[in-house]
Amino acid sequence: KRFDLTGKVALVTGASSGLGVHFARTLAAAGASVAIAARRADRLASLQAELQKLGGKAVAVELDVQSSDSITAAFATVEAALGPVDIVVNNAGISIVKPALEMPVEDWDAVVNTNLRGAWLVAQAAGKRWLMAKRPGVIVNIASILGLRTIGQVAPYNASKAGLIHLTRALAMEWARHDIRVNAICPGYIETEMNSDFWKTPAGQRLIDRIPQRRIGKPEHLDGALLLLSSDAGSFMTGSVLTVDGGHT
Ligand code: NDP
Repeated sequence: KRFDLTGKVALVTGASSGLGVHFARTLAAAGASVAIAARRADRLASLQAELQKLGGKAVAVELDVQSSDSITAAFATVEAALGPVDIVVNNAGISIVKPALEMPVEDWDAVVNTNLRGAWLVAQAAGKRWLMAKRPGVIVNIASILGLRTIGQVAPYNASKAGLIHLTRALAMEWARHDIRVNAICPGYIETEMNSDFWKTPAGQRLIDRIPQRRIGKPEHLDGALLLLSSDAGSFMTGSVLTVDGGHT
């Protein structure tokens, strides 16, 4: 089974809501043991129980990707519970919507430090461990079509996701010889609990009208890309950037 993840350990950042929850379920259903990580650790308990019911092992871990210490501690917890991490899904991300001239530097820092610096620190922590142990590894960075094209009022988000795409290519190039694969998924507009009301508003409808398939994406539309990049089915892929966006780009 080429998309099978039995025996693998996956770490999903930002697994306390939205896409991260779905990614954790998808990886667990494919056979992986899954570590679910976020700042709001209290929100992870029910998902952990659900994943364990799927038959695999799961651990919930508090993680703030803005903090190196937090990342080090999280890796230690995950390794103690599940063994060495094989797959990292850098999904933690935030967006702040404001016109550029009204965006304080604190907002820039929060967005870029989470989406770009955070992914970098988690990738570095994983890469270090894989190289030291001479183990292969896989990183899937969750970027966005807004890293490839822009809309108004999310300049730091646009910049962070464009940076994440190029970071993906840079790490892929550097680590390919060590059997570490680094790829990115660029989701288009995906409906989650957090934004489902927005898609019913006139502004939401206008965005949907610009999607060639004329419909909003669902988290499960990302499953194919996630499993391809995470599993041996994608073993000759590194530095790839997969858009999953209803034809947007
Ligand atoms: P949500 O807001 O639902 O989830 C974001 C997750 O990131 C939460 O679990 C949050 O948990 C976590 N997070 C935020 N900051 C940190 C931090 N410093 N350390 C650790 N975890 C953190 O958003 P989505 O599920 O919609 O988005 C997930 C990813 O997908 C993001 O990277 C986003 O940019 C990307 N994306 C989403 C699209 C969409 O349409 N939904 C489209 C394209 C890309 P907590 O607050 O508990 O830490």
